Amino acid sequence: MSKDSDSNWGLCVSCKWWQIEPAAKAEHVTAGYCIEETLQPFLLRVTGNSGCNKFMEGKPAHGKGSSEKPPTAKPAR
Ligand code: SF4
Repeated sequence: MSKDSDSNWGLCVSCKWWQIEPAAKAEHVTAGYCIEETLQPFLLRVTGNSGCNKFMEGKPAHGKGSSEKPPTAKPAR
């Protein structure tokens, strides 16, 4: 992978595309749903210490069903 695609890499725990259960705390072991627009169709279930180069710094979204297998929550963003 090029340096360019590595430069935005970050952890789900501090990504705005990470959606967790309504009462869940944003921690490394918390499971959630990745709601980044291009990844949404994959119903990607990721824990806080997962990550990718679509990372965008921010607070996680919340939605019921975000941690299910597969996630059943409606993307909040
Ligand atoms: S998989 Fe990537 S885009 Fe999705 S929440 Fe994690 S860091 Fe963000």
